[in-house]
Amino acid sequence: DRAQAEYVLRTVEERGIRFVQLWFTDVLGTPKTFSITPAELENALEEGMTFDGSAIDGFSRVQESDVLAWPDPTTFQLLPWQSPEVPVARVFCDLCNLDGSPFEGCPRHVLRRALARARAAGFTFFTAPEIEYFYFADADPRRPPRGLDSGSYFELTPGDQAEQLRRASVLTLEEMGIPVEHAQHEDAPSQHEIDLRYTDALTMADTVMTTRLVVKEIARRQGVHASFMPKPLAGVQGSGMHTHLSLFAGETNAFADPADPTGLSAVARHFVAGLLHHAPEITAVTNQWVNSYKRLVPGYEAPVYVSWARNNRSALVRVPVVKRGKLESTRVEYRAPDSACNPYLAFAVILAAGMAGVEGDYPLPPEATTNLYELTPEELAAEGVAPLPTSLQEAVSAMERSELVAETLGEHVFEWFVRNKRAEWAAYKTHVSQFELDRYLPVL
Ligand code: GLN
Ligand code: MG
Ligand code: MG
Ligand code: MG
Repeated sequence: DRAQAEYVLRTVEERGIRFVQLWFTDVLGTPKTFSITPAELENALEEGMTFDGSAIDGFSRVQESDVLAWPDPTTFQLLPWQSPEVPVARVFCDLCNLDGSPFEGCPRHVLRRALARARAAGFTFFTAPEIEYFYFADADPRRPPRGLDSGSYFELTPGDQAEQLRRASVLTLEEMGIPVEHAQHEDAPSQHEIDLRYTDALTMADTVMTTRLVVKEIARRQGVHASFMPKPLAGVQGSGMHTHLSLFAGETNAFADPADPTGLSAVARHFVAGLLHHAPEITAVTNQWVNSYKRLVPGYEAPVYVSWARNNRSALVRVPVVKRGKLESTRVEYRAPDSACNPYLAFAVILAAGMAGVEGDYPLPPEATTNLYELTPEELAAEGVAPLPTSLQEAVSAMERSELVAETLGEHVFEWFVRNKRAEWAAYKTHVSQFELDRYLPVL
């Protein structure tokens, strides 16, 4: 890291960088930052920068409010959208206590710890998300959001503003050294998707934060609004963040076994079994908002039941077919997460669920071959297919009973999260909605 730190200092000098933004993320995945001048940077790299953590949700208790933001020099990047006259860079930070130990409220730390556990078992964890989102004319919550285009799945909508915004976002990401696999129009009007090329999960969690920011920033500059809200419009698809997962042992993809009909190794099959077994208890983390559960309903290509399949868009885990000779791209796709999750915590609990399956040799249940949306509750029960939580309340209850999630998040984040989500549910529960007024006021 010494060499990395020196590279950062040299770059700041050579490029005439005027501010370095220190980036980190709170427990709910909100991006946070403060800026330092280059004069402070060397010191920050060596000793971290103190700030008042109590200002930030989920971070610090009042009595121990000072924490350190410690820049991770491997994440240093220029921000291409800042004016060339005043170049600005950013660096992701780990949060530490004043004695330098990891701060337990830091999501990046939670993920680092989960990754270290997998590494001790011999595995590196790679992820590749498909990030879906909408473009809207504005962010005014008083009326239904208005899209910018009326395209649909994979539609080529030449020259329209949303298409240009999406393209500008991809180019900006590439300027920042973030490889994009593909980008496309998604199913709903004005809904788009950016798929990132797989990297190790820590890099990817940072990248998801960067991608959301870039997409929003580019939209904002054109006077419009990009939203990662899970289900902003009723009656059309919501925005998922399907995430492709694989474990590597050294250079070898530990999920691949060309001799197996599914192409999956025993490790992969146990991993999927772990994901399925623990899916209900990790859902509060991968789908953390009241609104997330309006996406997880039948009929919109979002998962509703705990199931896996090779080619079935109603399944929770999909096993994509791997191109011949491309064993290294063997992976499974976890389809529950939405684009508004905290990627650090989401990747941590997904990994923990999968690793529990690997370490406990969980057996893989049979593949779901029918469209699960079309089965009745009785048929599902007969097939032993469990539902995912249908509301934030159910999800939090399942999480609260989960040793796996408590251990993965650590006590501090776990307790804070449960408390925060209970409060969100309570506020939602007592709210009287437009639906109720429309439906009941005229007639009751
Ligand atoms: N939008 C869908 C979801 O909510 C996914 C659509 C797709 O990529 N097939 O998960
Ligand atoms: Mg896709
Ligand atoms: Mg998609
Ligand atoms: Mg997908």
